[in-house]
Amino acid sequence: MTTISATRRDGSSATVDDAAQDALGSAVHGEVFTQNSDGYDAARAVWNGMIDKRPSIIIKCQGVSDVVNAVKFAREHDLLIAIRGGAHNVAGHGTTDGGIVIDTSGMKGVRVDPAAKTAHAQPGLTWAEFDDETLAYGLATTGGTVSNTGIAGLTLGGGLGWLMGKHGLTCDNVISVDLVTPNGELITASANEHPDLYWALRGGGGNFGVVTSFQFQLHEVGPQVIGGMIIHPMANARDLMRFYRDMTADPPDELELYMALMTSPDGDPVAAIMTGYNGDPAAGEKVIKPIREFGSPLADMIQPMPYGARQHMLDDFAPHGPRRYWKSGFLPELSDDVIDVFVKHASNLISPMTGIPIFNMHGAATRVDPGATAFGHRKHQWDIDIVSQWLDPADDERQTEWTRRFWSDLEPFAGDTIYVNHISGDEPSRIETAFGSNYARLREVKGKYDPENVFKLNHNIPPA
Ligand SMILES: Cc1cc2nc3c(=O)[nH]c(=O)nc-3n(C[C@H](O)[C@H](O)[C@H](O)COP(=O)(O)OP(=O)(O)OC[C@H]3O[C@@H](n4cnc5c(N)ncnc54)[C@H](O)[C@@H]3O)c2cc1C
Repeated sequence: MTTISATRRDGSSATVDDAAQDALGSAVHGEVFTQNSDGYDAARAVWNGMIDKRPSIIIKCQGVSDVVNAVKFAREHDLLIAIRGGAHNVAGHGTTDGGIVIDTSGMKGVRVDPAAKTAHAQPGLTWAEFDDETLAYGLATTGGTVSNTGIAGLTLGGGLGWLMGKHGLTCDNVISVDLVTPNGELITASANEHPDLYWALRGGGGNFGVVTSFQFQLHEVGPQVIGGMIIHPMANARDLMRFYRDMTADPPDELELYMALMTSPDGDPVAAIMTGYNGDPAAGEKVIKPIREFGSPLADMIQPMPYGARQHMLDDFAPHGPRRYWKSGFLPELSDDVIDVFVKHASNLISPMTGIPIFNMHGAATRVDPGATAFGHRKHQWDIDIVSQWLDPADDERQTEWTRRFWSDLEPFAGDTIYVNHISGDEPSRIETAFGSNYARLREVKGKYDPENVFKLNHNIPPA
């Protein structure tokens, strides 16, 4: 072991000597990686290949006591802290240059109470892992649309998914949260304990502490649900988007309808409608009939399937590792002019890996009072994401510029809002907008629970 260089919270340099590293190694059960460790490169990798940071220390926490000890160690040495769950953060906040990573991805416990239809779940689970456990009881909660996303970051930011029309956002299904405070104390936030913190944790992101457990409300699903996509040539994208707009004007809560403009596995530019129906499959067949009858699709893959299969439906689009640049916003309407912008740029995709998904937010997710949780954007709208993906680092500038040009044409039509979990690393100015009317209250809660801004590597809310 040798003394290592590290970065303090204020950006200045620090060192962590052998004795301190020894003490840390003895205090925690999980593996501790430094830049000299075998496996360091694998341990520091995150989903977005553009994020290439070199933490001084990565602690793979195995349990609550590891998290407590990791926070205390970081505080003692005044180190910059990054917190990681599933490592999917678009902006790359799950890692740091020189700071310490408190990696909770090894904490994968789940305990389902089938009578109460609730689950306690640790923050290292991906949605695939969480779903497998709850589906063993025929239960699920609103989870991400790509199953290798972590439950932690997604839940804390809000959580849009295949059940949101019927059961609300993921954060609307959070009953309680256990977390470790900046002082290393373990507390629970719920409607009865620290209700201000409970409010902030449902949409305010990873600003307030390191979560060690979520308690979720679950719902009966399936066993069969309708799911799948129907694919049209990009040449018909304009008509398909107008049809999609009409279909999503006032959809039933059970119906989820998303769109994507992308390249097919055969290399053809295509426009797809992706659907899910969360109710009686026979009733769902009737509701989606117009989608199947519209135009002349290249392929119709809509069918009854197990709930778990639908949760994996989009996974191939989002493997860990490729390089990414992302622009996003909520659109209040899909006007003809907006559709023209989509068609213009999507007809000229410069990477076959790139896709532009559009998520319709509706139903139960929109009926919650905007002030009831920290996630305030509670209205019928469309979340749009320009997700540029490529492999060659030499292509970084070209891909980033293409994405920015697309977004600059779309931006005038976008509401002044964005989903906090979709903010890119170069958009700190959009953080306040993302929290909207809840921003001032979030600053107060941050001031109460993290007055020194110990947890600052996130879409940061400055303490009031
Ligand atoms: C391919 C892909 C698909 C996506 N699909 C959806 C979707 O369908 N619906 C949706 O709502 N969002 C979606 N997102 C966005 C997603 O919600 C965010 O990227 C989210 O941050 C991922 O959480 P994570 O735990 O995997 O990420 P991480 O990078 O591990 O964490 C992100 C942030 O969350 C906080 N955090 C993580 N773990 C903890 C913890 N234990 N305690 C406290 N804070 C913590 C930290 O601030 C951290 O910086 C998607 C993202 C990607 C890349």
